[in-house]
Amino acid sequence: MFVDVDPVTWTLDATKLEEAITPNTKAMIPVHLYGLPADMDPIRAIAKKHNLIIVEDACQGHGATYKGTRTGNLGDAAAFSFYPTKNLGACGDAGMVTTNDEKVAEAVRALRNCGQRVKNVHELPPFNHRMDSMQAAILRVKLPHLDDWLESRRSLAGLYNQLLADTSVITPVEPHGYRHIYHLYVIRAQDRDGLQAMLKENGIGTAIHYPIPVHQQPFYMKNGQGQGPYPVAEKICSEILSLPMYPELTEEQVEVVASTITRVLVPTA
Ligand SMILES: *Cc1c(COP(=O)(O)O)cnc(C)c1O
Repeated sequence: MFVDVDPVTWTLDATKLEEAITPNTKAMIPVHLYGLPADMDPIRAIAKKHNLIIVEDACQGHGATYKGTRTGNLGDAAAFSFYPTKNLGACGDAGMVTTNDEKVAEAVRALRNCGQRVKNVHELPPFNHRMDSMQAAILRVKLPHLDDWLESRRSLAGLYNQLLADTSVITPVEPHGYRHIYHLYVIRAQDRDGLQAMLKENGIGTAIHYPIPVHQQPFYMKNGQGQGPYPVAEKICSEILSLPMYPELTEEQVEVVASTITRVLVPTA
């Protein structure tokens, strides 16, 4: 089952969570989308009430915090991705699970290594998800820089927010008590496709994360999980546009992007 997102934060709408729980539900996976943590207090209260496990999808949330706690500490276990484009990226595929539960840690260690708890004894499904040492070495060198990179993203996002404040586009929110780390800087625009085309004409690359909401993906449609309705996700999906965002981006470049948006949004008729 999927749960629609909140129209303001664009993360899981906890007020719609309980109605999605069935007798078969065992766990929930809130996503810290674009680098903003999901609203974990009500999610945790519902998980506790129904005796459900929380697995955080922290793949975009390295270093983001919720009421002072870092992502990766907000549920029973969390998944981080170190895919090359993530805020902490390897030079190939890599990832990490965090948990404070020794049993989960032990199971994950076995699952990543062909289901072995003891060498040559395969007890669990035989997946190979080991992180190779080259990726680990690269991540170790990059890790000490992560906080500086996040601060840079946050300051560039603040500049975008300020420069776009008087336009018709909707800029991302950072609710009180949250630390957004802007894996992506995503705005909403009514004529998103028009805006994207105009920015392209002006030499500014943008992207859409993501063009098809997950419940409308062919796999889920085929498996009958995709009917919805999830009207908020569908509406947001038609309006989102990711602007350039990476730690090395300069303030001048942000100013050029923002002034181009301001210029092209002005009706010319
Ligand atoms: C990147 C990403 C994943 C998948 O991570 P992989 O390392 O490619 O498996 C899952 N969820 C979110 C939100 C992501 O951004």
